[in-house]
Amino acid sequence: MPFFDSHAHYNDEKFNEDRDSIISKIYHENITKITCAGYNLKSSEFARDLSNEYDFIYATAGISPNDIEDAQIEDIEKIRQIAQNDKVVAIGEIGLDYYWNQDNKEKQKEFFVKQIELADELNLPIVIHCRDAVMDTLDILKHKINPRKKGIFHCCMLNKELIKEAVKLGFYISFSGNITFKTAKPNEPVNEVPLR
Ligand SMILES: [Zn+2]
Repeated sequence: MPFFDSHAHYNDEKFNEDRDSIISKIYHENITKITCAGYNLKSSEFARDLSNEYDFIYATAGISPNDIEDAQIEDIEKIRQIAQNDKVVAIGEIGLDYYWNQDNKEKQKEFFVKQIELADELNLPIVIHCRDAVMDTLDILKHKINPRKKGIFHCCMLNKELIKEAVKLGFYISFSGNITFKTAKPNEPVNEVPLR
């Protein structure tokens, strides 16, 4: 059965040595579609370039909360230019991360809202990164801006309330390695996600 990897980072410099050989290897092992996610200007450009090089790779463009510190608001204009490429299928990763960054919460929120506005203008879905910022993320999506094309909570936290509300708002949910951790108790929250 062929798989679609909806969130990979082959734009990461860790792959500089062997990127092409890894991509061709996994393609031949049945990962036949990949979305390569950007998280700042450079990685978004790189994701776009990879998607133009490989038929089966798509890209997202965005500035993640963990890359906000060095970002300027004008950078969103550059994300718009990158996202105008046909192979860019979403704006992301965008969102809030208070686990790694507590000092710039207002700036994170501003970039999150502005990038949702951009997604709406370009008629694209969004890829949300949310860590330890459940209340503020939901507050923005419920009361400030309701993203037109919705999108996905990627690598979602095992927070039952968050998942319940995100599903209600029309978002997809993705889980990753975090649900396999020995300390994780995935069943209850994961069951909040409908199968289709
Ligand atoms: Zn990611």
